[in-house]
Amino acid sequence: MSLHPEKLEAVKSKLQEILGDRCTTAHSVRQQHGTDESWHIPCPPDIVCFAHSTEEVSQIVKICADNQVPIIPFGAGTSLEGHINAVEGGVCIDLGQMNEILKVNTEDLDCTVQPGVRRKQLNEYLRDTGLFFPIDPGADASIGGMASTRASGTNAVRYGTMRENILNLTVVLPDGKIIKTGGRAKKSAAGYDLTKLYIGSEGTLGIITEITLRLYGIPEAIAAATVSFEDIENAVQSVILTIQTGVPIARIELLDDVQVDAINKYSGLDLPVQPLLFLEFHGSEEGVKEQSEMVRSICDDFGARDFTWTVQAEDRTKLWQARHDAAYAAKALRPNASIWATDVCVPISRLADCIMQTKADLDESNLIAPIVGHVGDGNFHLAFVLDKDSPEEFEEAERINGRLIQRALEMEGTCTGEHGVGLGKRKYLKQELGDAVDVMRALKMALDPQNIMNPGKII
Ligand SMILES: Cc1cc2nc3c(=O)[nH]c(=O)nc-3n(C[C@H](O)[C@H](O)[C@H](O)COP(=O)(O)OP(=O)(O)OC[C@H]3O[C@@H](n4cnc5c(N)ncnc54)[C@H](O)[C@@H]3O)c2cc1C
Repeated sequence: MSLHPEKLEAVKSKLQEILGDRCTTAHSVRQQHGTDESWHIPCPPDIVCFAHSTEEVSQIVKICADNQVPIIPFGAGTSLEGHINAVEGGVCIDLGQMNEILKVNTEDLDCTVQPGVRRKQLNEYLRDTGLFFPIDPGADASIGGMASTRASGTNAVRYGTMRENILNLTVVLPDGKIIKTGGRAKKSAAGYDLTKLYIGSEGTLGIITEITLRLYGIPEAIAAATVSFEDIENAVQSVILTIQTGVPIARIELLDDVQVDAINKYSGLDLPVQPLLFLEFHGSEEGVKEQSEMVRSICDDFGARDFTWTVQAEDRTKLWQARHDAAYAAKALRPNASIWATDVCVPISRLADCIMQTKADLDESNLIAPIVGHVGDGNFHLAFVLDKDSPEEFEEAERINGRLIQRALEMEGTCTGEHGVGLGKRKYLKQELGDAVDVMRALKMALDPQNIMNPGKII
């Protein structure tokens, strides 16, 4: 759906007065801003604006609010559930050029950044300070986008998700007002927790223009390991026992045999084509040895093979890059492929059942769908590798995805552990949260009565 041409012209000319050629209706730019990395059909906005400051964002929002025009915030466009699709047309505000690291407080282990800062950029900048920011969704996402999707990734089992690692946000509200949701104190009991309200709000309640993040010391020693198993159940049982034993593991990732085969081909590795765990340990030199011995002995009890570990930075980087490229490796398994990535999360004690039942479901279908998971959190993903031109395959993926979510909800889990709701998971929210969805709707109406902020998403 697009804006009425007269409204479009009026809004465009007001925006161009402030932004000049940083406000555009060029076809290719609009197209790029309506296309994420998901299977959802692209849906471009009418206008794209590139903002440079909080005040500029506020001015853009005021113009849109005065004209009741939808606004879609845009970070790096790597989200996976149609989050940035302009389903009602409108103005996309690209925050990518607001990419300054504003302040690093080494004594307090925190930093404040603009929303367009990418996660890799931040860690490169921090390297000389001896600090790092741990949240690592596979893609090189923006910090604003990660905050807005409550992202996590491989390190969350040790360091938490975006929810645990944000102290304060600057937010432009849907009427253009600017607020701060907190300070730099590590804890606060001052009123409603607006910081957490905005984390994961997917651009539906306002635009985040500054973020204060927690940082961590780079560990003295880091070791990575891989370990293979005869079957997936034993791999998952090892994970469950590792977590229950309280080993402070930094990363514990499961890849099924299909995914191992894919990354071997894509990243030039020669890992045994069997269910595999990728592990990482952080601590002192003695500490990582001790942790890895404990995990090795747990894995041995579940019939593991080939436990290999390394402290060499180069080997670790190669391994984790391969893990982060898992989705692209899956896509390369067949020509003309589209990837439909979905994720669920269950309590850790139900993880083996959930994965085994899902694997059985997949075995009965003709679809290729590697399983990878941040299994230390009970979170795993399917990446359906679909023929772009086969509606039958998309229908089958929809059915298996529906059953996967049903299974996760019956196990008291969630329809998405980290990718978020966007367009794709909206229909499962009521079943998961019941009347709480009405409270979400009431919040949305109170903060955004004109429903201009990323309409059509979440609820
Ligand atoms: C290969 C691959 C692997 C991935 N692995 C993971 C993973 O392991 N864990 C994980 O959590 N995710 C993962 N993702 C998903 C994706 O990277 C995350 O959802 C990421 O947080 C999105 O950030 P972005 O900057 O690309 O946001 P975008 O896609 O640009 O936007 C996402 C949402 O946030 C809103 N938004 C963006 N910026 C702002 C802002 N400043 N203020 C308000 N709203 C805003 C947008 O409107 C949209 O609703 C993966 C994606 C890919 C392609």
